[in-house]
Amino acid sequence: MHHLKQLTLVTLLLLLPTGAGALTYDQTPVPGGIATIRLPADVDPATVRYRERRVLVTREAERTIAVVGLALGAKPGTHYLSARTRSDKPLKLSFQVSAKDYETQHITIKDKRKVNPEKRDMERISREQKQIKAALRNWSDADTVSLEFLKPVDGPTSSTFGLRRFFNEQPRKPHSGLDIAAPEGTPIRAPAPGTIINTGDYFFNGNTVFIDHGQGLVTMYCHMHRIDVETGQQVAAGEVIGAVGMTGRVTGPHLHWGVSLNDSRVDPTLFMTEAETATTGMKDIGGATP
Ligand SMILES: [Zn+2]
Repeated sequence: MHHLKQLTLVTLLLLLPTGAGALTYDQTPVPGGIATIRLPADVDPATVRYRERRVLVTREAERTIAVVGLALGAKPGTHYLSARTRSDKPLKLSFQVSAKDYETQHITIKDKRKVNPEKRDMERISREQKQIKAALRNWSDADTVSLEFLKPVDGPTSSTFGLRRFFNEQPRKPHSGLDIAAPEGTPIRAPAPGTIINTGDYFFNGNTVFIDHGQGLVTMYCHMHRIDVETGQQVAAGEVIGAVGMTGRVTGPHLHWGVSLNDSRVDPTLFMTEAETATTGMKDIGGATP
């Protein structure tokens, strides 16, 4: 069973309307996870917002559901969605976010410039950060969005999502994706249909591809040896977009796979089947980070 489907089912079973224009759904999503929130039947999907951003709205078994990405920095407690009905009545929906303790990871990077960039690197890095952020927060309308992903590369997980990281003993941002170890040249496949919205060679991420799957769902592929697609190109699920490499800040060849939903980086394994996730048993190797 897909994790996401399971999550939705739990949400619906525990549906607890509290009336008076505010609905609470008893579920316990976590930072870096996904909240699935049932919306009233008369909601206008284009008006649904979380932290001022549009969110993915899907219909499943005659129900209208918001699928909301929660940032790793999301605070435990009550969060809100806002929306309007088709007759323009305002709606406010609340949901709870629980704390999650992600493990700590210490990594040694030999190329010190990749940990403490030089002054001349900083201009490039800040220019690239703008492009990367723009790609990850991209919105495009789509009638249907696949929430079930194929695994883009066959291989073991070398770093799970959400790890709290230290590079050469210096604290850095938590791990915002899933690392899959594979030999250089291993094909990387699109996990679902989409459009290539950006490709480039970035200081930290190396050769990178971004796929827009619609409604704020964007996936990112880093450290690639080779890029086989161009911006504007449509890709089908399973289509090869390039090959695994070790470009950018790495200790060995691997794919860093990121998933962004309403501009929140979320755990890619939430979109895969349990069978696919099970084959990604942790492998104790030094290569293949970050
Ligand atoms: Zn990574």
